[in-house]
Amino acid sequence: MKQPFFNFSDRILALSYEAGGICRGPFSEIEETAAFNACKVLSAFQKHRVGESHFTGTTGYGYGDRGRDTLDAVFASVFGAEDALVRHQFVSGTNAITTALFGVLRPGDRMVSVSGTPYDTLHAVLGLRGKNYGSLKDFGIQYEELPLRKDGKVDLEKIPEAVKGAKIAYLQRSRGYSLRPSITVGEIERISKIIRTADKNVIFMVDNCYGEFVEKREPTGAGADLIIGSLIKNPGGGIARTGGYIAGRADLIELCAHRMTSPGAGRDVGCSLDETKNMYMGLFLAPEVTAAALKTAVYAAAVFSKMGYRVLPAAHEYRTDVIQAVVLKSEERLLAFCRGIQRGAPVDSFVTPQAWDMPGYEDRVVMAAGAFHMGASIELSADGPVREPYAAWMQGGLTAATGRLGVLLAAQELDSCTD
Ligand SMILES: *Cc1c(COP(=O)(O)O)cnc(C)c1O
Repeated sequence: MKQPFFNFSDRILALSYEAGGICRGPFSEIEETAAFNACKVLSAFQKHRVGESHFTGTTGYGYGDRGRDTLDAVFASVFGAEDALVRHQFVSGTNAITTALFGVLRPGDRMVSVSGTPYDTLHAVLGLRGKNYGSLKDFGIQYEELPLRKDGKVDLEKIPEAVKGAKIAYLQRSRGYSLRPSITVGEIERISKIIRTADKNVIFMVDNCYGEFVEKREPTGAGADLIIGSLIKNPGGGIARTGGYIAGRADLIELCAHRMTSPGAGRDVGCSLDETKNMYMGLFLAPEVTAAALKTAVYAAAVFSKMGYRVLPAAHEYRTDVIQAVVLKSEERLLAFCRGIQRGAPVDSFVTPQAWDMPGYEDRVVMAAGAFHMGASIELSADGPVREPYAAWMQGGLTAATGRLGVLLAAQELDSCTD
């Protein structure tokens, strides 16, 4: 990466050259998928006749907000779903997932996670730990999980027994803070068929965080009844300022809507303020921005594996999310990695990330994020709990060129570690 703005050692420049060669094949596949998904999004905009009037915000209750209702319809079309709820009122992905779980489950119901223990922030929602702030457990909902196999894959053979009679079978597509492989849409389709065969009444819910637009299909096109995600990740395209979505079967979306606002009020309230245009524009850009994040991830896999680190997935591996894990094996290296990523940011590039007790997480967590939107992880970011094996999970990059730069800065910081 030759340019006069950032200084790299000859070793890093040589690495960047080699990594560039490795990336050529994967990059052309990423571009092909992005083009397909961009056409899908554009056709949904046109089908629902998106016009300038849809960008006019509402205040107060938000009755009759056409921009909001049309955006729901556009998202549903893009995801091949019957219906969707897309709201800036969702605080985050966790809040949207919580809304969906409480929307669908009733006391006495049983929910089964088929992909092992869910993402850290959901533990308190399920009632696995923490005070009784009104978790699912508090409401008499039974939670069970099917552990992953030793190789980190879903235990397909044990699914039928585990899900029979359950209200929800839950699956997390992305790896979260673990080193297990993420679950592709093809695999999700297979799992969905196994669930349906075992018990046709089970509701199949997928945490789709970080997965949107990485493949040509979403889980809703592969048998999932509900998918949920965050707008400061892929589908917000780096433009949505906050929010989340739930998409899927119309009867379930209706239940979620009454939980999202109030029973009785449902989706007819909830003003859009001035957020609608950002959400439309973010969705429009999302396939391209997701492609930039994917290129950053593939490039990172190439660079850090050349440096001798274990990377998951490898540069040439098929991907279903934008996450790249790099196993760094020491606190010093984890902090150095995050320092480098932070130095590559357009905002707050001058600060030094520190590990801290972040709300919702069990271990200290270090996060590098120099983002236009606080905590937006579709922007170049890296984080990891300060615990064995001291891995960093990096994701995002609004543009491929600056993502690449951040990766090289992290590589250079690692090169200066002494341990
Ligand atoms: C990001 C994420 C969530 C939701 O986290 P928020 O920070 O609340 O948006 C849930 N599951 C997975 C796998 C995630 O990556």
